[in-house]
Amino acid sequence: MEQVVIIGGGQAAASAARTLREEGFEGGVTILSEEAYYPYERPPLSKAVLQGAADANSTCLLGEEAARSQNINVRLGQRAEAIDRDRKVVKLASGESLPYDRLLITTGSRARTLDGAFAGKSNVFCLRSLDDAAALKAAMVPGKHLLSIGAGWIGLEVAATARKMGMQATVVELADRLCGRSLPADVGALLAEVHSEQGTVVHLNTEIESVGGRDRIETVTLSNGQTLQVDVIVVGIGAIANDALGRDAGLETANGIVVDEFLRTSDPNIFAAGDVAAMRIGEGRPARMESWANAQDQAAAAARNILGKEMPYAVNTWFWSDQYDLNIQMIGNIQPEGGSVLVRNGEGKAFTRFSVADGRLVGAICFGAPRDMAIIRRLMSKGYLVTDDALATAPELRKLL
Ligand SMILES: Cc1cc2nc3c(=O)[nH]c(=O)nc-3n(C[C@H](O)[C@H](O)[C@H](O)COP(=O)(O)OP(=O)(O)OC[C@H]3O[C@@H](n4cnc5c(N)ncnc54)[C@H](O)[C@@H]3O)c2cc1C
Repeated sequence: MEQVVIIGGGQAAASAARTLREEGFEGGVTILSEEAYYPYERPPLSKAVLQGAADANSTCLLGEEAARSQNINVRLGQRAEAIDRDRKVVKLASGESLPYDRLLITTGSRARTLDGAFAGKSNVFCLRSLDDAAALKAAMVPGKHLLSIGAGWIGLEVAATARKMGMQATVVELADRLCGRSLPADVGALLAEVHSEQGTVVHLNTEIESVGGRDRIETVTLSNGQTLQVDVIVVGIGAIANDALGRDAGLETANGIVVDEFLRTSDPNIFAAGDVAAMRIGEGRPARMESWANAQDQAAAAARNILGKEMPYAVNTWFWSDQYDLNIQMIGNIQPEGGSVLVRNGEGKAFTRFSVADGRLVGAICFGAPRDMAIIRRLMSKGYLVTDDALATAPELRKLL
């Protein structure tokens, strides 16, 4: 094998390229990125970068110098338009055809947008890229009012950052709780309390009925009858997999490019990893994971399998979010069917919530208790047997190791 081509230039691409070199691959490694920047990580975009506490350069994962020293050819501003599987080439927007022996698709996902009255308005933003973050940051002015549409992770983090910057912040959410797809109801309710204590107004079970303004949206009328004056609107209503390239090439897709546990698509020469990959485990439905840790580890696993290592991906479910001074971390199965929950209270509002299934620790949420996570990882990897409520009551969690 001589040429590995990676489409997409984000977290997964950087991890895969680096792993190929670490594993001793000496052939060509090319990253094709449609963006103008060397691969960077996105989590700071809604946090430190938006707030101005970190600059854009601090997000870089694989800079020019590092790429050169590892002989990784990063081609910026190059959008892959099509994959010709018979000829094993990637077609670029420029008309060039780039040959590959193995191809890795890491095209990630894009922010879901709102059309209709929201389309083309100058104060409506979404947040996915460095450019999005720069545009949003420029609009965030202390004293002004920011509205987050959607109480998912990004909408909540942006609202928290806005409050930290001295803005007014409101969150509007259709569902009856925060982060409904990923947080259990009890934890969502506690997170809502944190937001209201910090002065963010959260409207649950609420729709936007109408908006006012011409080039900008100036007022928003909610289904609860309230009308808000707004200055900046952030749409945080989820992400859509960038899987069209795979679908058009005839690869199996199902809300993402379907891969097996070796990250192989339905074409054995093509792999996928990160936000775009929908992994099938056993008989289950293929599932996408949108997280930093998954992009990092899944892409490294894909790189090893490209090199023929035949190592199934051990799913990394770790996720974190920072809102105000609160750090939330999650791992494993946090809502096990038929399982139970043990809660260890920390200082103030902090707690760690353990999930137990069949007598074993299978997952946890650390709410303002980041130091517990390292211990939990080790307890879970050891298959910790929960025989009493020591997880909740032991004076020191690490003593259980
Ligand atoms: C604002 C924000 C905050 C986040 N915060 C957290 C957090 O706190 N914790 C956490 O665990 N996760 C967080 N995430 C999620 C995490 O960043 C993603 O899961 C991760 O970036 C996925 O990496 P990826 O490489 O699969 O995709 P991406 O990082 O999205 O990279 C894909 C790249 O491919 C490019 N591309 C797409 N199509 C083509 C094409 N045809 N040709 C060439 N290039 C193409 C895209 O432009 C992009 O540069 C956050 C995400 C965002 C947006």
